[in-house]
Amino acid sequence: MAEPLPTDLSFPTPRTDVWLESRYRKLRRGLPQTVFYCPRCKGDRRRRKDCPQCDGFGKLTKESVQEIIARRVLPQMQAKAGSFHGAGREDIDVLMLGRGRPFVFEVVGARRPDLDLEALRQDIVARSEGAIELAPFVRVTRERVVYWKQTNFDKIYRAEVACSAAPTPEALAAASTFAGTIVQRTPQRVSHRRADLDRIRDVRILDLRALTPDSLELRVSCQHGTYVKEWISGDEGRTSPSLSSLLQVPCTCAVLDVEEILTDDVQGPLPGAAGGSATEA
Ligand SMILES: [Zn+2]
Repeated sequence: MAEPLPTDLSFPTPRTDVWLESRYRKLRRGLPQTVFYCPRCKGDRRRRKDCPQCDGFGKLTKESVQEIIARRVLPQMQAKAGSFHGAGREDIDVLMLGRGRPFVFEVVGARRPDLDLEALRQDIVARSEGAIELAPFVRVTRERVVYWKQTNFDKIYRAEVACSAAPTPEALAAASTFAGTIVQRTPQRVSHRRADLDRIRDVRILDLRALTPDSLELRVSCQHGTYVKEWISGDEGRTSPSLSSLLQVPCTCAVLDVEEILTDDVQGPLPGAAGGSATEA
């Protein structure tokens, strides 16, 4: 597109890069954090045309947290492109609750960098139709991307656990106080892209109670890098002890939410606190 003719002899508005830090809460399952390109054609303009996996769409979901933000930020800042840098990511079917997951949205080549960030935030959230919520944006420097990418945080999860049979009351009571280390071999689910090794992780069950005879509600605090779905199932013996082994019945994770990411400014749950919600320092 042609640049508008200058009305005076000054230079066109210069472009500048902007880094916006915030936290997102993801309230809709099935929403990925970043653009979910089709694994077969990788979204490539030419290859996707006849792709049987995505029918030429190039992506496997209509939108993502990244796209919900970018489609409002980029036109309003008159920017060329944007990059999304999250502090880790949850699986596509997992909600992100609590105070949300920190991220930095990098705006490349903005002509209008000095927008009202609060109006921008409210516009993004309103147009997401309940899919996401955002903490107020803060202008930061690019070093914050490095910080969030290189720092690991423990997390609190809430899960609904499906059991193949009702656990005994004794097993349930014993499991509900579990706190200790587990050994977790790289899950089969991710072994194609992660090195196969044993990890030692701290896990602490905060609350475990029956929902129905063969389902449970679990709240658990996990050291960073714990694969919680596999800790619940045991992943065919690759994680030990697992919730399944503690309860002495095979279990699977039916529903999972990240309830809190324990960043430095978010304290862990108070022992015995109702709902265990994290409190501010
Ligand atoms: Zn495709």
